[in-house]
Amino acid sequence: MAIDRIIRVDMSTGAVTEERAPERYALLGGRALTARMLLEETDARIHPLSAEAKLFIAPGLLAGTAATTSGRTSFGFKSPLTGGTKEANAGGQLGHRLARLGIKAIVVSGAARGGWRRLDMDAEGARLSAADDLAGRGNYDLHRELVGEARRTRAAATIGPAGEHRLSAASIAVTDPEGRPTRHAARGGPGAVMGAKGLKAIVVDDSGGARTVPGENADAFKREVVQFSRTVLEDPRVHNTSRYGTAGVVKFVNRENVLSMPTRNHRHGSWERADTISGQLIEELGRERGGKMLPCMAGCIIKCAILYHDAGGGHVTTALEFETLALLGSNLEIGPADAVAELDRLCDDVGLDTIEMGNAIGVAMEAGALAWGDWEGVRRLLDEDVRAGTPLGRIAGNGTASVAAAWGIDRVPVVKGQGLPAWEPRTLKGMGITYGSSPQGADHTAGMVTARGVTPETLAQQSRREQLTMMALDSAGLCQFTNALPADMAAFVRERFGAEMSEERLLAEAREAIETEREFNRRAGFDREDDRLPRWLLEEPLPLPDGPAVFDIDEALIDAVWA
Ligand code: SF4
Repeated sequence: MAIDRIIRVDMSTGAVTEERAPERYALLGGRALTARMLLEETDARIHPLSAEAKLFIAPGLLAGTAATTSGRTSFGFKSPLTGGTKEANAGGQLGHRLARLGIKAIVVSGAARGGWRRLDMDAEGARLSAADDLAGRGNYDLHRELVGEARRTRAAATIGPAGEHRLSAASIAVTDPEGRPTRHAARGGPGAVMGAKGLKAIVVDDSGGARTVPGENADAFKREVVQFSRTVLEDPRVHNTSRYGTAGVVKFVNRENVLSMPTRNHRHGSWERADTISGQLIEELGRERGGKMLPCMAGCIIKCAILYHDAGGGHVTTALEFETLALLGSNLEIGPADAVAELDRLCDDVGLDTIEMGNAIGVAMEAGALAWGDWEGVRRLLDEDVRAGTPLGRIAGNGTASVAAAWGIDRVPVVKGQGLPAWEPRTLKGMGITYGSSPQGADHTAGMVTARGVTPETLAQQSRREQLTMMALDSAGLCQFTNALPADMAAFVRERFGAEMSEERLLAEAREAIETEREFNRRAGFDREDDRLPRWLLEEPLPLPDGPAVFDIDEALIDAVWA
């Protein structure tokens, strides 16, 4: 089945048109496709929130198929946070639904005048209509109305109030299998770009579409699907993820020999109350309260999404992840898990990146604007100020650097303007190499390197390899928790499209896609100085047992990652 429809939505004129994807896009999907279209179709020097900017939405190459976890959707744009290329992807039900309607990409351009719009897509076509009745509403309310009982065939991508206010930390919420807005394309401000277009919601109903997208070599593709699923289920790393979600790493990274649990605006790498937000504790609470592990999309066999209930058994959030527990928890000295879960729900509802907000609020606490551990103050900030778009809410919702500028703080946890993930670059130096050299800025999903006790050269090689692998995963639409190797993805692409594909060619194409992103950043005015980590990470040590640790990787080694 061909997935080659490109839907173009001009928000300025209201025109919705359709074209066939050119042949050169045939083996591009997800992140690689959005990066290419962003470079080819937009001037890198435009303002990211201007009418000239575009938002590209693309499922991965394997979307719609039976390959496990293959339904991630990429959102590509010029980031209002970094000023460079950005791709944020999300699980949820959107990617499979788009693919089953044969849709390879949606391109949103222009800017609506005089009110909000929604885009509805189904087997009959795509239609833009007025949506002022949706304005000001949170994501939970929106997905209940737009998807609700039709969740078996429908999925939405929406912005909350933060996106309407065009805040740089605004996310796009994607419907999960239970009909809730718990999967977010969050990093870099995609919600702000969608908000600037005047587009409040995209609703996709695939009831008239294909049920499953087959491989071109159907039998061989099925064999790959079965074999890959077996490999995933036998992987001991996956067992841990399935049991505790990403929250399972809290105990491990909080230890004195890792120190990767950001605490007090990254001043410490360990928090004495980390047990109150650990995956093990959350699992115990889940047993008492009726929580469980869920898939974030149909067909996921790992199921890492934590369904989190309150003491009365009511739903609070789904997908309480390590990054959220760390940035909105230990980094702000907020616990226990119940408290962080409430903040996670608020971020999902208002439509905010939990990593960016955890960093931004950490800086605000450092400035004395809020006290450490002030859960009620953080709740008010998110639920009242950011939601309403007060001046304070806008400063916070525009991210870490915005808060630092407002309070005159010079110790700012950002790379390329984007807040640091939890993975600590002073003790896990490979992560620092990724944060510096990735065109995406400080983004752990760009290339996880957690090795220790190896040479800086080895870390740089691992970062490069992981960044290529992540590019391939994000382009295939596969989830990183499968631990899929380039060889797995090459086999999938070969049998799905009946194309020549080897591991070497797949990695070469991933490299080309990264160069596409780097070229956009060059045109946007980035240079090597933008690949540097903030000075305080080079000067302020964390106390590992074998001595103080700073980020001391030679700049030349970071420059050499893509040389
Ligand atoms: S492993 Fe987790 S993040 Fe990945 S597809 Fe499954 S539920 Fe979603």
